[in-house]
Amino acid sequence: MSEHQTVIIGGGVIGTLCGWYLTQSGHRVTIVDRGVCGAACSKSNCGYISPSHVLPLTVPGVVWKSLKSMMSGDSPFYVKPTLNPERLGWFLKFARRCNERDMLEAAQVLHELLQASTRLYEELIHGERLACEWRKDGLLFVYQHEREYEEYEKTNRMTQERFGVSARPLSGTELVEFEPALKSGLGGAWYFDCDAHLRPDRLLAELRSRLDRLGTRFVEQAEVTEFISEGGTVRSVRTSQGEIAGNRFVVATGAWTPFLNQHLGLKIPIQPGKGYSLTMPRPRICPKYPLIFEEHRVAITPFDSGYRIGSTMEFAGYDDTLNERRLSLLRRSAEIYLREPYTEPIEERWFGWRPMTWDSKPLIDRVPKYANVWLAAGHNMLGLSLGAVTGKLIAQMINGEPTLLDTRGVSVARLSRRSA
Ligand SMILES: Cc1cc2nc3c(=O)[nH]c(=O)nc-3n(C[C@H](O)[C@H](O)[C@H](O)COP(=O)(O)OP(=O)(O)OC[C@H]3O[C@@H](n4cnc5c(N)ncnc54)[C@H](O)[C@@H]3O)c2cc1C
Repeated sequence: MSEHQTVIIGGGVIGTLCGWYLTQSGHRVTIVDRGVCGAACSKSNCGYISPSHVLPLTVPGVVWKSLKSMMSGDSPFYVKPTLNPERLGWFLKFARRCNERDMLEAAQVLHELLQASTRLYEELIHGERLACEWRKDGLLFVYQHEREYEEYEKTNRMTQERFGVSARPLSGTELVEFEPALKSGLGGAWYFDCDAHLRPDRLLAELRSRLDRLGTRFVEQAEVTEFISEGGTVRSVRTSQGEIAGNRFVVATGAWTPFLNQHLGLKIPIQPGKGYSLTMPRPRICPKYPLIFEEHRVAITPFDSGYRIGSTMEFAGYDDTLNERRLSLLRRSAEIYLREPYTEPIEERWFGWRPMTWDSKPLIDRVPKYANVWLAAGHNMLGLSLGAVTGKLIAQMINGEPTLLDTRGVSVARLSRRSA
């Protein structure tokens, strides 16, 4: 066996980019997936690479605001009532993090990861000429009501002062000229020129074709069910298609990661946060910019080759049904803001399970139980944005090199701290 025989479990954007950076540093990589690589949460998300998203989900007041919006019946946020102790424990920890201090701590970690990841994507996409519809056009946070638009000013000032990330305000009247696809009479918007977007399925297809050429092996329809170890070192994984041997292993199993808890000797606190998207041809009056309708938490992505409406956040366990009410909510929200909100035919009706942690931060670290297993999971709502930096950090950790960032904020150790 050659020196670096690395097995990556999970072929989403995180596993694929770990594969990319490991291959670049001389590893022979096998990517194993229980389904088809790239077909889970990384497939039809909104495609944002968004350094603007420094603030975690755990901001002060979010629990109360979400509960209030759930009462309205048409909320983009939904929590299925449960007595499941894991889910209840997760929510309790989430709620405890919704304070100023923890929000700023998570924001600092996310900010550094997002900045580094955006730079790495630019290098990778331009360097490898990946045809993934990359555009650095920025992103608009759009408000229906003027009061909410004006309220964002405080947040904008805070993110500017603390992280140097800020947006340009556009009043309702300025907005019509800036983005003619929007209806007139809206409250206003904030324009972040730092953001980019791409077509996630194209990115994964392009990376796969490069990896294929470099000799990466893809094993699909093979669920990893067990780690076979000797003296704290994993020698192989058992899959539904037989054993796969290696001397380094990366677990990049997204929302499914807790199913491996027992084998990894960890209690990984990931809950699936279900979101939906609808993909269709571009409307005639197509937005120039990606848009987030802040009060409705719905996102629009104008790709070169299509148009997507996405979002909503449903905590309902591993429920794999397509909820029609959620899908129609996407359309109804778009109608409020856009002159031509959607087109026909709908090419894809999709859902994905975001791997949600209670502190909004991913887990990028070695698994303490084993000398040769690393974890890259829990990327919440930012897995695409954070894919490149995660792949780079994992490659550096495995190769024993200094990491490009301080990784204490994404460590596994934080899970067992008493304050957690
Ligand atoms: C509606 C929506 C919009 C979003 N928009 C954005 C956005 O604009 N920008 C952004 O940055 N993020 C966005 N996200 C979040 C992003 O999609 C996720 O964070 C990201 O896809 C997670 O990637 P992953 O590789 O960890 O997981 P996945 O893509 O889910 O991949 C995990 C893979 O592991 C495999 N697997 C699991 N268990 C096993 C096992 N035991 N054995 C073998 N294989 C296994 C699965 O089959 C799967 O293929 C969005 C999400 C949703 C739902």
